[in-house]
Amino acid sequence: MIRVRFAPSPTGALHIGGARTALFNWLYARNQGGQFILRIEDTDQERSTLEANHAIFRGLEWLGLDWDEGPNIGGNYGPYYQTQRLEIHQKHARQLLDEDKAYYCFCTPEELDEKRKEASKRKEAPRYDGKCRKLPDAEIKMLESAGRPKVIRFRLPAVGETVVHDLVRDKASFQNDLLDDFVIIKSDGFPTYNFACVVDDHLMEISHVIRGDDHLSNTPRQILLYQAFGWKPPKFAHIPMILGKDKARLSKRHGATSVIAYSDMGYLPEAMLNYIARLGWGFKDQEVFSRGELIQKFSLKGVTRSPAVFDTDKLNWLNGKYIRQILPERLIDLCEPLLIEAYGNHDVEYIKKVVLALRDRLVLIPDVVPLAKFFFTDDFEYDQNAIEKHFKTEHAGKILETLKARLAQLEPFIKDKIELIFKELAKEMDVKLGVIIHPCRLALTGTLESPPMYDVIEILGREKVINRLVKAPL
Ligand code: GLU
Repeated sequence: MIRVRFAPSPTGALHIGGARTALFNWLYARNQGGQFILRIEDTDQERSTLEANHAIFRGLEWLGLDWDEGPNIGGNYGPYYQTQRLEIHQKHARQLLDEDKAYYCFCTPEELDEKRKEASKRKEAPRYDGKCRKLPDAEIKMLESAGRPKVIRFRLPAVGETVVHDLVRDKASFQNDLLDDFVIIKSDGFPTYNFACVVDDHLMEISHVIRGDDHLSNTPRQILLYQAFGWKPPKFAHIPMILGKDKARLSKRHGATSVIAYSDMGYLPEAMLNYIARLGWGFKDQEVFSRGELIQKFSLKGVTRSPAVFDTDKLNWLNGKYIRQILPERLIDLCEPLLIEAYGNHDVEYIKKVVLALRDRLVLIPDVVPLAKFFFTDDFEYDQNAIEKHFKTEHAGKILETLKARLAQLEPFIKDKIELIFKELAKEMDVKLGVIIHPCRLALTGTLESPPMYDVIEILGREKVINRLVKAPL
């Protein structure tokens, strides 16, 4: 049975990197008919917050990444909050103590800090020096009864090497004597990440650990813990990091990194999902994938080894593409409140027509507001260069005058009929259609870019059109 997990620490919003880890796990589970588990790693009491926890749920829900086991829904391997598993962690730490694979350490933070400084003076990597490795029982009892704070450290085999076999990267070997006796239970009784992660992954029967390659250095420590318990480690797949366009690791500096911030900016979840899936994974040279296709085509073999680069232009391109694909009703629902808020116009039928006319021009949903301005107000600016080019001409006055006269009479006022008026006029004047359309578009919208002219005229309606043709600043 394939069982994978997403194990975020609730210390902030769900950012792009976390969402990508969640997505790859989710896709792998869905592709393999396995289970996707959500486990909240909230043992860092100082940094974990309920707010961040909710932000993670919100991000996952927005992307449609549903979990089969985890918070809110439970499952057979719970609890799914690590802080509710403390007894389990402590019990396993006691097992290692009993087997002499772990030991109590009473070194104070000050003492450790001092040693770290000395090591760095000697230009050595800071490692625990093993001072408490062989404390006699009597001394431990004495220090305990004196109320001295203690941690539990893992007794690391000091020889040999640990090999990490990875489904994405080449295998990597780590010399055990370069690792140190790391802490597994802190002085407050909480487990450290490496320890809780191993105990929980094992008890939750996780088959594959798919996570960012920033965790690669933790993996040998985790493998050594599996060996100490006599457990079979899961398979590991470390996915490459995500960089900004400047090739620095993606961070807040590159703009929004939280997934929900993208939702607020007007990206569609399907565009985001598609885009995130392509950050470090590919299938031939395909760019656009529906959710179903991603599930069908996802494999760990398709995960790249080199870092992925976050490219907002590409994300925008995808978003525009999805805006053109979604159901009109959904697009209208997304745009309507923005337009009502911006222009105070509550004419729902009118709003619908405007949104559909602008659909091809939207990159982000809120783009609809500035693009729709001329539909809702006469108070728009005219493009000065366009005025020079299309109003200051021999024919402009006559064109607008004739259009006004003919449109005033037109029945019914619909785009097919409107089109005929333009075509006839172009023919009569023996000019290209553009010669007629450009000054008209400028008069009605203030710019030379707008949805198709005949749609715009029909939607604006006779009265507004006539008024604007009259008041055009020729
Ligand atoms: N809580 C860890 C993190 O958020 C999980 C790492 C892992 O997947 O093992 O980075």
